[in-house]
Amino acid sequence: MPAKNSRAPLLAAVAALASLAGVVALLAVPTPLRDDRHASLAGLPTPSETAGDPPARDSRGQTEPPRTERTEQSPTPDRAGSSGPGTTAVPGASRPGTRPPVVDHGPRTGNRVALTFDADMTDAMRHQLRSGAVRSYANLAILDRLERERVPATFFLTGKWVEEYPDVTRRLAANPRFELANHTYGHLAFTSACYGLPAIPRRRMADDVARTFDVIAPYGGRQTRYFRFPGLCHDRAALTELAPLGVTVVDGDVISGDPFAKSWRPIVDAVLSRVRPGSVVVLHVTEANAAMTDEALPHILAGLAARGLSPAPLSEVLDPSRPG
Ligand SMILES: [Zn+2]
Repeated sequence: MPAKNSRAPLLAAVAALASLAGVVALLAVPTPLRDDRHASLAGLPTPSETAGDPPARDSRGQTEPPRTERTEQSPTPDRAGSSGPGTTAVPGASRPGTRPPVVDHGPRTGNRVALTFDADMTDAMRHQLRSGAVRSYANLAILDRLERERVPATFFLTGKWVEEYPDVTRRLAANPRFELANHTYGHLAFTSACYGLPAIPRRRMADDVARTFDVIAPYGGRQTRYFRFPGLCHDRAALTELAPLGVTVVDGDVISGDPFAKSWRPIVDAVLSRVRPGSVVVLHVTEANAAMTDEALPHILAGLAARGLSPAPLSEVLDPSRPG
């Protein structure tokens, strides 16, 4: 699929718009420009996409019909909403009232690894999108490949990203190989110093995360109680605030460094040099802020296969006894 035949002009436009976008963002709201994992950057303007409920678009900016891949998928399991006999607990659920467990990876046995994709959406990013400075924060080429090659993955969604991309969220939820997890509502920092992200007050932390579960839940699919802090920034106080929610905090042991990468090769090298059985790989599905991830993905998949490693849903990597 000629997904990126528009890459060169895209990059040229990104470069041309980057400085302007920075000025715009600074005038609007604080933005994490120096955050190498989570900062904002401009992409191509597509004003028509700034309207509410934007349709899914492919990498050429075209509106997509319903995905044919869906027809080959089995009915979506609704593990989160089921409570009948024989059903398993929601993945990631921990005992409410206790500080949540924090995990970096699963057991170093077997051959499974988890590919996780964060879907960031700050107020600054939403402004970029709605002003037309950025074309998309949803990298559909990643989804195309994962679906085509039947690769399991787990998506850490911010509530605001879900609100911007309901159609894409439906597409994620409809895939029985994809798990949905929580990445806060608006990608605020949960510690005082986190890559320049604006901080959320302690008293609002639990509500922010609970609200995000509420945004994601109606989409069904493979819901979880996995949670990832923006920038992976957390301290004892933040964990204590989340104790009522019964979540598992997932950091990851393989940081791909994909945001703002200028080429796919460093992403691939970062992943393949560190990945081991049980690894949790941190990637991004944010397109304009991580424009090379879809180009890195086939090389990552080939490298995993060459090492005998097999992508699996996060729940199955962290707990290999779960049915897969
Ligand atoms: Zn993030």
